Amino acid sequence: MHKIDLNKPVCVTGASGYIAGWIVKYLLDEGFTVHATVRDSKKAGSVAHLWKAAEGSKGTLKLFDADLLKPGSFTQAIEGCEWVIHTASPFVIKGFKDAHEALIRPAVEGTANVLESCNAVESVKRVVLTSSVASVYGDAVEILKAPGGVFTEQLWNNTSSESHQPYSYSKVMAERKAWEICKRQTRWDMVTINPSLVMGPSLTAQTQSTSIDVMRDLGSGRQRTGVPMLEFGIVDVREVARAHVLAGLNENSEGRYILSGHTASLLQMANLLRDRFPKYPLPTKQLPKFLVKLVAPIAAGVSREFIQKNVGYKLRFDNSRSVKNLGVQYRPLADTLAEHFAQMIEDGLLKKR
Ligand code: NAP
Repeated sequence: MHKIDLNKPVCVTGASGYIAGWIVKYLLDEGFTVHATVRDSKKAGSVAHLWKAAEGSKGTLKLFDADLLKPGSFTQAIEGCEWVIHTASPFVIKGFKDAHEALIRPAVEGTANVLESCNAVESVKRVVLTSSVASVYGDAVEILKAPGGVFTEQLWNNTSSESHQPYSYSKVMAERKAWEICKRQTRWDMVTINPSLVMGPSLTAQTQSTSIDVMRDLGSGRQRTGVPMLEFGIVDVREVARAHVLAGLNENSEGRYILSGHTASLLQMANLLRDRFPKYPLPTKQLPKFLVKLVAPIAAGVSREFIQKNVGYKLRFDNSRSVKNLGVQYRPLADTLAEHFAQMIEDGLLKKR
């Protein structure tokens, strides 16, 4: 890995986002000058938490406007930086008509645009890219064929497409594109952070991240009648943010890093939350797969193929590289979930009970 000058500014793309908010905060606390890109820096609501993080920190915050779909729009923010953290990418799994326009184009073309700006700016030496376990596997059923029954950084998602699991497809195609561009040059190196489902308190109530929807669905009573046996790898947002910083600072970091502290089903998550939030209408039972197949396509808009390939499988992730090489320490899942739930109540995203 190239040695980077810690006195130079660090560029963080998609700084208004759920994960990026914590990355920016940690960098500011460390004393870095952060070049934070957002789509619209005049939208006070989506950047207020960044200014708050900057207040009283040792660092300096500078905001830049940039859009993933506008080639060259990141160049000004990257100017003078040796280290670029690229997090910007839409994380939505429903509510769009055209998966290509909503997800795949911004993820893939956007990543190419950011990395072409890195190519254009002579100072860049290291890129940390926010990828996902969605670029490691597509559907839960793939755990049955994973060597040793565990998902590792060796694996790639070869099953998602624009019509099946389009978000996962956007992530794997963006990561592939990033490695392709990285390998065409030698001035900058790249590390990817591949988190599972990210949970934990958000510094902003404005994010559209699906992480927040998962929690809202559990706590609002929407899933009161029961949940499918859907299991997730889960990781605290603060561990994910810290890993981005550690990966940039550690000269020995290289390749992909799965970030996943725990696995839990929706019901197990609800049970952990119920201990601390007994008044909330959290789900209490698991629905049989045949019933989910019958009801969910209409009630939740998910396909039978998704249910067939994802409901009922137990997942395992190998997080040993993140622990040994980056020094990530994973906190207990119950704390992550409870602190996230409490933040959402505090910010009015869940009713006070
Ligand atoms: P988020 O809060 O929705 O953040 C996404 C960010 O991308 C926002 O800052 C958003 O900016 C920006 N963005 C979207 N489209 C853009 C465009 N056309 N031009 C410029 N910026 C654009 O979601 P998040 O959960 O923090 O996700 C951040 C990254 O982590 C993504 O790459 C996601 O795939 C990855 N990830 C997330 C999870 C998870 O469970 N949350 C797990 C694995 C990987 P605006 O504020 O302007 O919309």
